[in-house]
Amino acid sequence: MTEEELQQLVEAVSLEWFERPFRHTAVFNRRLRTTGGRYFLRTHNLEFNYRQYEAYGIETLTAIIKHELCHYHLHIEGKGYKHRDRDFKVLSSHVGAPRYCEALPEHHYSYEYHCVHCGQVYLRKRMIDLSRYSCGKCRGKLQLTRKV
Ligand SMILES: [Zn+2]
Ligand SMILES: [Zn+2]
Repeated sequence: MTEEELQQLVEAVSLEWFERPFRHTAVFNRRLRTTGGRYFLRTHNLEFNYRQYEAYGIETLTAIIKHELCHYHLHIEGKGYKHRDRDFKVLSSHVGAPRYCEALPEHHYSYEYHCVHCGQVYLRKRMIDLSRYSCGKCRGKLQLTRKV
């Protein structure tokens, strides 16, 4: 994904979920490790963790974008924009954004399985012997979703 595409995605998420435009700049920061993204109070710009996008794909990136846009819109509107603020809790749950911006671990998994019964997803570094293992939640059958 290029930075132009990132900018377009942030603008689209902002309109779709917040019904307000994003009028500043979004960039990738390849050095971010511990956070999924950052909002800059002074410039109103956003930065996103490129490695999270690489490791987890567009759905995770979109969740991070929603989280950072909560900071962005609330701050611009003079509302409580910090994680502990009530405005933040209400808005983040309304748009389905994660409450915090910590990055997910970057372990490199090779195999993704899901439970055919309850849908629980399992990421594993090695192949699982499907005749011996079942879902830890419901004992359902596991199926290989994809080899990453
Ligand atoms: Zn945050
Ligand atoms: Zn299950």
